[in-house]
Amino acid sequence: MIDLLQNCTKKDIFKILLQCIEYSFLKIIYSLKMSDINVLKNTVKSTVIKEMSEMGHEQIVFCYDKPTGLKAIIAIHDTTLGPALGGTRIWDYATEEEALQDALRLSRGMTFKNAISGLNLGGGKAVIIGDASKIKSEAFFRRFGQFIDSLGGKYITAEDVNMTTEDIENIAKETKHVTGMPQEKGGSGDPSPVTAYGVYMGMKAAAKHAFGSDRLAGKKIAVQGVGHVGSYLVDYLVKEKAEIYITDIFEEKLNAVAQKTGATIVSSDVYSLDVDIYAPCALGATINDESINKLQCRVIAGAANNQLADEKKHGEILRKKGVVYAPDFVINAGGVTNCYAEFTGKNNSDEVYSLTRNIYDTTLNILKKADQDGITPHEAALELALKRISNASKVKENY
Ligand code: NAD
Repeated sequence: MIDLLQNCTKKDIFKILLQCIEYSFLKIIYSLKMSDINVLKNTVKSTVIKEMSEMGHEQIVFCYDKPTGLKAIIAIHDTTLGPALGGTRIWDYATEEEALQDALRLSRGMTFKNAISGLNLGGGKAVIIGDASKIKSEAFFRRFGQFIDSLGGKYITAEDVNMTTEDIENIAKETKHVTGMPQEKGGSGDPSPVTAYGVYMGMKAAAKHAFGSDRLAGKKIAVQGVGHVGSYLVDYLVKEKAEIYITDIFEEKLNAVAQKTGATIVSSDVYSLDVDIYAPCALGATINDESINKLQCRVIAGAANNQLADEKKHGEILRKKGVVYAPDFVINAGGVTNCYAEFTGKNNSDEVYSLTRNIYDTTLNILKKADQDGITPHEAALELALKRISNASKVKENY
């Protein structure tokens, strides 16, 4: 090597030195990249599995299809009571992590909802990542249907936010593990009217607990989100002659509902409104660190899933404030009861409404239990749901 260098000009030696430095840098950068990727891979793996074990999930399926652009996550939380049934939500999530969190929380909520409603169903949920106004096509939903079918019936889907019966029909072209088919095709149709009826029953029970009467006439009620469920809920409240305030991010929907029902449109902060009842019917986590201190209402009863950003902390603050909170997963179970009827082939609307009416008694019992045990209504409801799951798993152990 020394002999070789002795025969080189100064310029050649300088060139060789430069190449050596460049090579070392590349080596460092390359090794850094590899280690970074490994750390990242391990972090992702351990975070997802850690979260699954902490929240009690059985299976998470990540779906991707290049030709249609489908990006979806199917979360199966618990199948002790039966196959995991829960709708598919389409949302333009800011990050994949946000989508995963939503899928994890929503599927867990479905386990408790199905358990407390007495349905022989486990809990699951799917989220599709993207802008619902741009991504939909027949091929897109058929591909999603194939992913659902590959689970062999462990997960059954239905409608949730931004999904229509037409989308459900396209999914059904590829799998039989789907509910919420249009009524004219023998299905149970849009579950939203039944969900709204259940929320109305839960709201009346919570009003009885808080005010001593379930009459809503003259009560000031703020409905946040007048989409599928919110608009049907407003119809029930109009019939009771409640004083209704509505809010939505879509002006068109807001104006249509106000025109039809005479409800007052609210342009200010909905949380600070001086109302008796707040009905969250948009998205989850609206009861959070920011909103909770603004709330003036005595009752919270709405359709949205996962209303409490932190179930323990915010549930406890509400209890101390004397706000009666009707647990979301108890009172918004009308829709899944409707889907269950379709799934079991007992698609009878009268029976579904009669079963959904039970939400009134269930809510009252939970609110009483919470007061007696000095716990939050969310905890009281959770206790009952978990008891049913635990009893069922004991029975299964005997086989
Ligand atoms: P939807 O999409 O038809 O309605 C939601 C409405 O909320 C929309 O009009 C939307 O513009 C509005 N909205 C969104 N963000 C808002 C905000 N920050 N402020 C005010 N309005 C806002 O959905 P949906 O089917 O009516 O469901 C409503 C909620 O109820 C969801 O959380 C859903 O998961 C839950 N839920 C629905 C059903 C059902 O049968 N559809 C069953 C159980 C639970």
